[in-house]
Amino acid sequence: MTPIERKIEEILEEIICIRRDFHTNPELSEYEVRTAQKISEYLTAWEIPHQTGVAGNGIVALLQGKKVQDEAKRFQTIGIRADMDALPIQEAVDVPFRSVKSGVMHACGHDIHTAILLGTARIFKELEEDLTGNVKFFFQPSEETVGGAERMIQEGCMENPKVDVVIGLHVAPEIPVGCIEFCKGKMNAASTEFKIWVEGIECHGAHPETGIDPIVAASHIVCALQSIVSRNTSPTQPTVITVAQFHAGKKNNIIPKEAVLSGIIRTLNMKSRTFLKKRVEELAVLCAESFGAKARVQFTDSYPVLINDEEIESILEKAARQFLPKNKILHCSEPSMGADDFSYFSRVAKTVYFNIGTLSEGESVPQRVHSAHFNPDEQCIEVGMTMEILGTLELLSQKKK
Ligand SMILES: [Zn+2]
Ligand SMILES: [Zn+2]
Repeated sequence: MTPIERKIEEILEEIICIRRDFHTNPELSEYEVRTAQKISEYLTAWEIPHQTGVAGNGIVALLQGKKVQDEAKRFQTIGIRADMDALPIQEAVDVPFRSVKSGVMHACGHDIHTAILLGTARIFKELEEDLTGNVKFFFQPSEETVGGAERMIQEGCMENPKVDVVIGLHVAPEIPVGCIEFCKGKMNAASTEFKIWVEGIECHGAHPETGIDPIVAASHIVCALQSIVSRNTSPTQPTVITVAQFHAGKKNNIIPKEAVLSGIIRTLNMKSRTFLKKRVEELAVLCAESFGAKARVQFTDSYPVLINDEEIESILEKAARQFLPKNKILHCSEPSMGADDFSYFSRVAKTVYFNIGTLSEGESVPQRVHSAHFNPDEQCIEVGMTMEILGTLELLSQKKK
């Protein structure tokens, strides 16, 4: 066992307790008040300087290396990010530390991410004297909704000192605990939300010829949208269009004035995003028109594509080999069409996001994040901390290409 692995071993139990406390007291996006307060209390107790109130409830902590080498050819500051928010889900897992908040649950593992980053910060405090660079710790709010990452960047978390590289991790319930999964290049999709208002003319349900039915028009729009991915985009370019909401009407015998559809578009490049938006609007407007109705479309661009830097990825993989056997270092075969606001960091620095397995040995029921039954194996905490620490040290020891 290396001295760093021994240090991790020593604090592991405490970090697991911290994770369980966050799990018991989950907080929704933009309301992470207690979580932020606890993080600040731990950092204060461990004498780690930090700034609170970043992007709402976010916290940025900084350890300045005492042996920073003034070389332009080296990475001088590494950022490590953990998201903090929970989800509006009623927990169905029967553990002693289950959520005490009705309808709120850490079902995406952000309690684990936060606890891991606290443990990592604590170990780095002990290594401060020998650090050849700076380490910044981003405790980020609101991943699940408004994208706290973008706001933290806008509020200057990447400056003073300037951050060269940001790394981050996410729990992955489909991967066995003890494993780390790296993804080269594109890892997550860009997301755009859309809403379509279809306006007809209200009339009695028994006399449809006297009005214009927006439900029939909107139904045709839903079907027409299916043709975009199948007929207008290349089969080799993954894209998704999902209509997830369809609202119309109040009474069995009234054809309503309006139907409202909403959903998401996911793409792996910005050109496809622009094309899909144009095509959704065209189809919705023309399809509605053909029924005598009118459609209005609104898009809200959300998270961009998450792209991992290949140079940083290979440095992290080298660090992973220091503590994991080859068969526990996995590589994803394809990008996920999921989205994560870590991608905002990809826009302003070299970044790598990686997955840590949480599937217990012998467990056969596959778990999912955002599920009321999500119960990650806590052994992943040790793996996550070790990876963040060894990965950061490896990055600080490397010369830039
Ligand atoms: Zn999530
Ligand atoms: Zn998540």
